[in-house]
Amino acid sequence: MSQAVSVASGILCLTIQSPQALFEEPTNCYLVAWDEGVLVIDPPSDDETHIAAILSAAQTLGRSITHIVITHAHPDHIGGMLPLHSETGAPIAGHPRLAHLINAIPPTAFVALHEGDTLGAWRVLEVPGHAREHIALWHEPERIGIVGDVVHGQGTVVINPPGGDLQAYMRTLQRLREMSPRLLLAGHGPPITAPVAALDALIAHREAREQAVLQALTPIPQPIHALVPKVYADVSPERWPVAARSLLAHLLKLEAEGRVLRTDEGWLRPGVSSE
Ligand SMILES: [Zn+2]
Repeated sequence: MSQAVSVASGILCLTIQSPQALFEEPTNCYLVAWDEGVLVIDPPSDDETHIAAILSAAQTLGRSITHIVITHAHPDHIGGMLPLHSETGAPIAGHPRLAHLINAIPPTAFVALHEGDTLGAWRVLEVPGHAREHIALWHEPERIGIVGDVVHGQGTVVINPPGGDLQAYMRTLQRLREMSPRLLLAGHGPPITAPVAALDALIAHREAREQAVLQALTPIPQPIHALVPKVYADVSPERWPVAARSLLAHLLKLEAEGRVLRTDEGWLRPGVSSE
């Protein structure tokens, strides 16, 4: 676990490896000072020392915790929410779907956050794609976004259907790009200090991959496992199981757009001759 690091005025970041995480990748937990106290965003772990570190970081901001904000329901972003709620009495706040996805949240402890809701200068954005219930916080005066797993400080985000939806994800990336952020604080990795360029690169990366998917498809149906080596030739084979999930996300997007078809034998692109 890292020491609390100041990443912007009034914003601390604690980097914590969640025992609940599926991967060995620490999660960023942010503490944000606002008019009425401190927001804790995505407490990753129920480990006592991690909870104590969050509480002491909040003390250094000199105010008490008013909300425990959850960007989305994945295990590495919620592990500490219940113990932190017990310790502080602060409500757990997130997308209305969050309370349905996680039965362990007592209804009396939950505050639903909708698009456009505000906590002082911070505005709630609904940003589906990585997860349907994904929200972000946006500070318009400073143009800072706290964006969970919409983008990462390094690398790309896995879009894993059915929770992950690439069509929604591309709209979310475009929307963030149009807001001209100055700083994005992600759920994993370092602060993104050139976010417009980063978003442009992510959008271009997905579009290039989509072209590769279209090129690999023919009028003869092919199963996903046959398409992965063609579309992800640049990715090492150990990562092909994850790539297969991303490929499915691409195919579902193209299917929703009416550009590819699915049969029992696999995926095809009608009217394109194979070479
Ligand atoms: Zn995550």
